[in-house]
Amino acid sequence: MSETAPIGLAEIEAARQTITGMIRRTPLDPSPSLSERAGVPVYLKAEHQQITHSFKLRGAANAVLNLDEGVRARGVVGVSTGNHGRGLAYAARETGTRCIICMSKLVPQNKIDGIRALGAEIRIIGRSQDEAQHEVDRLVEDGMTMIPPFDHRHIIAGQGTLGLEILEDLPGAGTLVVQMSGGGLISGIAAAAKAMKPDIRIVGVSMERGAAMAASQAAGRPVEVEELPTLADSLGGGIGLENVYTFAMVRDLVDEIVLVDEREIAAGIHHGYWHESQIVEGSGAVGMSALLAGKIRPAGPTVLLLSGGNIDMALHHRIISGEHVDMTQQTGD
Ligand SMILES: *Cc1c(COP(=O)(O)O)cnc(C)c1O
Repeated sequence: MSETAPIGLAEIEAARQTITGMIRRTPLDPSPSLSERAGVPVYLKAEHQQITHSFKLRGAANAVLNLDEGVRARGVVGVSTGNHGRGLAYAARETGTRCIICMSKLVPQNKIDGIRALGAEIRIIGRSQDEAQHEVDRLVEDGMTMIPPFDHRHIIAGQGTLGLEILEDLPGAGTLVVQMSGGGLISGIAAAAKAMKPDIRIVGVSMERGAAMAASQAAGRPVEVEELPTLADSLGGGIGLENVYTFAMVRDLVDEIVLVDEREIAAGIHHGYWHESQIVEGSGAVGMSALLAGKIRPAGPTVLLLSGGNIDMALHHRIISGEHVDMTQQTGD
């Protein structure tokens, strides 16, 4: 298969076979409160309950398990805002693989601690994911394999296994609402879902502050945006100016892109706790945020993905207590 052949259903089904022993099949639960508000049945895919508390384990597991043994033995390295690092660290530990995670200073301490606890080495470099990338390049020259967070076919296929699970549990799904940062998640889900149900609507959601994929789609090519502090910290970072897969997949498969502001993200986290009994991080909550803000026009049964639950618990407590949390006042240092 050529490096850039489209990623289709067969590859996503193969990914599921590969990762099935390493991940949890997460539940799809109806949300009475959101269904009432939306006027259509709304379901929550509880992927924040995944091992390592985000879907990133799916792609990381697929990528690590697909490495030849000799290559894997030299170790893997990742650059990550947190959840990819956790997923990669976990998948590496489960396969007895050395793992180094490089990250920027903007990453919250709770995420750093979480990755270290999974047995990975941490290197904190620079202010942006791009700077951390330079350290990765050096480690790759020394023989380690870089596992990127989104623009990689095994990662995309691994995330796409969520699409298989959602449509198996709800074959009549009409709209899937999926977070969008680098676009690996939504590309994989959309490829699986549209192969199984071509008329399904895929809505991407990003935060207003630093939505690189949305800006790139608007420009018609990958563009850089400034990385800013946001409650949806897992959605930060660029899509890569040399993007191979996800820019084109989002262009071809995503029907609509919605942006949410910081107050709306907080409202999503708040709703998740008080009405759904779920602890969801900002990035994981943006589907609920968009729906609550009236920014989604749901067609048919609608699935909101809760993509992650790794949030600083003191911050979570402030948000669910109704305190106004303004990330725009924070510099990240
Ligand atoms: C990484 C991440 C996303 C976005 O995934 P992409 O593949 O980069 O678009 C969404 N939610 C959470 C919790 C994440 O960690």
